[in-house]
Parts: sequence; C-alpha cells; structure tokens
Amino acid sequence: ERAFSGRELFKTYITGETQVHALRGVDFDIRKGEVLVLLGPSGSGKSTFLNIVGGLDRSTSGTLYYAAENLTAKSDRDLTRFRRQRIGFIFQFYNLIPSLTAEENVRLVTDIASNPMDPAEALHHVGLAERRHHFPAQLSGGEQQRVAVARAIAKRPGVLLCDEPTGALDSSTGIRVLEALEAANRELDTTLLIITHNAGIAAMADRVFHFLDGQIARIETNAERIAPA
Ligand code: ADP
Ligand code: ADP
Repeated sequence: ERAFSGRELFKTYITGETQVHALRGVDFDIRKGEVLVLLGPSGSGKSTFLNIVGGLDRSTSGTLYYAAENLTAKSDRDLTRFRRQRIGFIFQFYNLIPSLTAEENVRLVTDIASNPMDPAEALHHVGLAERRHHFPAQLSGGEQQRVAVARAIAKRPGVLLCDEPTGALDSSTGIRVLEALEAANRELDTTLLIITHNAGIAAMADRVFHFLDGQIARIETNAERIAPA
C-alpha cells in the first residue's frame, strides 16, 4: 500500500535576482508504515522535501500523490485540510505551551481533530501517562519532546514528519524519543519520515534516502528490517 509517490519534483526558491534550485527532479515511492530517514549535507534539500511532502509548501513542478490523492492538484484550502488531517509534525524544539499541562497541550489538537484518540491514551503511547498533569517546565527535554510526539499522534495522522527530533537532546534522552516514534510506527502503523544526523535513528529505518544537491543520490535499504520473502 502506497503512502507517497513523487515524480520529477523540482523546487526553485526565488529571492530577488537569486534562484536556488533546492530540489532538482526527485522521484520516490514511500510505502504505508515505512520508516524512512533522510540524510545528507546541510543545504541538500531535505527540509524542502519534508515541507512539500507534508503540504506546508508546494513544488515548482512535478507531481506528488498521497495514496490516491493528487496533492499537486489540490487548492490551497484542500491542501491545508489534508495536512491537518493526515500529517503530524515534530520539530527540533517542542513548541509546547508553557502554561498548559502535558495533557492540555495534547488536548488542543484532539479538540479539533475528526477522529482523535484520548489525550491520556496518546501520552500512554509515549510512556508519559503518569506525567500528564505536569507542566512543560517540570519535564526534561526528552519528556517534552515525547509530549510533542503524543500531540502529533493524537489526531491519528497516518504520517509523522520529523525534522531533527533528537537534535536538542543528549543520546540517552534521545533514545526514549526514538522509542516513542518506533511505538507510533508499530502500534499505529504510522509512516515515519525523519531528518536526522543520529546514527541510532538511521539504523532503525527501513530505508535511507541520501540527499545531495537537491536530488536523492542513493537509496539504501536496511535488509535486517525487511522480512525475508
Ligand atoms: P537541508 O534541509 O538539506 O539543509 P534545505 O531544504 O533547507 O536543505 O535547503 C535547500 C536549499 O534551498 C539551500 O540552498 C537553502 O539555502 C535553500 N532554501 C531553503 N529554504 C529557502 C527559502 N525559504 N528561501 C530561499 N532559499 C531557501
Ligand atoms: P496549521 O497551524 O496550519 O494547522 P499544522 O498544525 O498542520 O499547521 O502543522 C504545521 C505547523 O508546523 C504550522 O503551524 C507551522 O507554522 C509549523 N512549522 C512549520 N515549520 C516549522 C519549524 N521549522 N519549526 C516549528 N514549527 C514549524
């Protein structure tokens, strides 16, 4: 079952006289439930790719599908609706509201989602059921990021897009965030796309897309994670 497929995606940013070709003809297919890591040097197009796949931005040309939906053909309004229903975002910094508890932060999302899980259940998935009444300042960085993961999965998005999710954490707290993402993948069949420099995350990926100069230069398959036929 297909999650995304992209054909000949180009993205050119124009600022004044300058053009930057951030994506230069990218082709890919991503299966539902897959764990994908995006690797590559700074400026190689990873964030641009993630933003376009997640409907935060549009390609300059090319086509992008999610399952049977042609995202490139959608109006801005329909693309926003698609993003809100189907995509969860995790960034390096957790963006929690400091005056709200963990559960209240998650409830902000579940109150407006069409088929949400209970906030306590979302926090249970990331191992924070006991801390649901804590405020962000009472939680460690890793715990705050797990609240952000709970907030992202609570709307049952189908896809989680993560841009350096452990970038602000030391390796031991980062591992707990990884475990939370892995649990979302395993228990909810959530497709994961993760930009990371963390070798531990790359090792848990089904495939790694290696970006170079706006293209997917190489796709590496993690044989150990693919069940033998
Ligand atoms: P990565 O995530 O791999 O670091 P990016 O997708 O952020 O790469 O950037 C790819 C290229 O596009 C870089 O040259 C970057 O400077 C440029 N770029 C990214 N976003 C913008 C923007 N909003 N406006 C102009 N140029 C941008
Ligand atoms: P919206 O607020 O339009 O409903 P979503 O809730 O679907 O958007 O999720 C996308 C959110 O991610 C947007 O609010 C956008 O402002 C935010 N966002 C985009 N890029 C970044 C970033 N680099 N760091 C933090 N937040 C970001």
